[in-house]
Amino acid sequence: EKISSQQAIDLENKYGAHNYHPLPVVLDRGEGVYVWDVEGKRYYDFLSAYSAVNQGHCHPSIIGALTEQAGKLTLTSRAFYNDVLGVYEKYVTEYFGYEKVLPMNTGAEAVETAIKLCRKYAYEKKGIPENEAEIIVCENNFHGRTTTIISFSNDEDARKNFGPFTNGFIKIGYDNLQALENALKSSANIAGFLLEPIQGEAGVYVPSEGYLTKAKALCEKYNVLFIADEVQTGVARTGKLLAVNHENVQPDILILGKAMSGGVYPVSTVFSSNEIMDVIKPGQHGSTFGGNPLACAVAIAALDVVKNEALAENAEELGQLFRSELNAFIKTNSLVKLVRGKGLLNAIVINDTEDSSTAWDICLKLRDNGLLAKPTHGNIIRFAPPLVMTKAQLLDCVAIIKKTIMEF
Ligand code: PMP
Repeated sequence: EKISSQQAIDLENKYGAHNYHPLPVVLDRGEGVYVWDVEGKRYYDFLSAYSAVNQGHCHPSIIGALTEQAGKLTLTSRAFYNDVLGVYEKYVTEYFGYEKVLPMNTGAEAVETAIKLCRKYAYEKKGIPENEAEIIVCENNFHGRTTTIISFSNDEDARKNFGPFTNGFIKIGYDNLQALENALKSSANIAGFLLEPIQGEAGVYVPSEGYLTKAKALCEKYNVLFIADEVQTGVARTGKLLAVNHENVQPDILILGKAMSGGVYPVSTVFSSNEIMDVIKPGQHGSTFGGNPLACAVAIAALDVVKNEALAENAEELGQLFRSELNAFIKTNSLVKLVRGKGLLNAIVINDTEDSSTAWDICLKLRDNGLLAKPTHGNIIRFAPPLVMTKAQLLDCVAIIKKTIMEF
């Protein structure tokens, strides 16, 4: 028997651990840029599961790869080889321009993996004294919620009473080259600089032009690994395959997750050179599900879609249109202060405080008007639809957003 929205919400509230403020809508179907709630109302998805569903919901060729592989072999663990993992590894190294990969499942796991890899490389190849390596990170970062990752988070809710924390992180201001150079100079034990090329959860914060290039050059000068977390920005979201491609920067370690599989199956991957990856020896790191044949088959199909459907180009073009439409609109509207973003990772900043409820109220109204988006803060709403959107659909969405904001 079909469950109602209220029943689904009641069940989750009764039996599930507290979640982080979901928008009250219960979905049971998705296709392309649309999702439907259990009562049959259709919405544009403007979150894409935090940029995981870049290829659109239930893309037929990804689902085809999933069902085909699911009928053959789903999991062996890496106790044995399987016939898909090596093919996947070759495919993604060529696709993203690296020599070696380490397959994991979630974004946070891949970040943890990158931290371990960076540290081991520092001890074994750069002579940093054991257990003394330090990694530079940025204020207002979001890299996940494991114990080590929250050790260097600014989010007090995510940290409070979860300590003790992991040492070895130096936090500096984002988009601040002087702070980076000061930190690089501050110790002989700096092993890496970990950053998001655009900060997603911080409210879609785009650094100044040239920042990535100059930050990479500073890392080279001080012989420190440049580690890019592109879990949210990667796989065509920002109008290029990777956000670092906007500045032709090649990270020493690249972290991808989410849209690698189009949101169909958890797939994350850490990329590097042979020289770096080879410090991890058999038995030193791994995961039961990492690199399983189902994940690999799904990811190959999902990455094929990105190329075949030119999703980066579409994100670039529609992103320009989205920002220019909204920029024209906000000249006539005092509620929205600014529009920012790259490709189809955008946000509006509202003339209100971070702890107001305005962004949330607007998102509830957007929901009523058929568009699902989520605030990152009380005054910021992120807009990140699937990249398979058409121009007509985008203009329809712009009209919904304008109409909704005018109701305030
Ligand atoms: N890194 C970044 C930049 C992210 O945006 C996220 C998720 N929002 C993560 C890591 C964590 O990914 P996951 O939730 O898959 O662990």
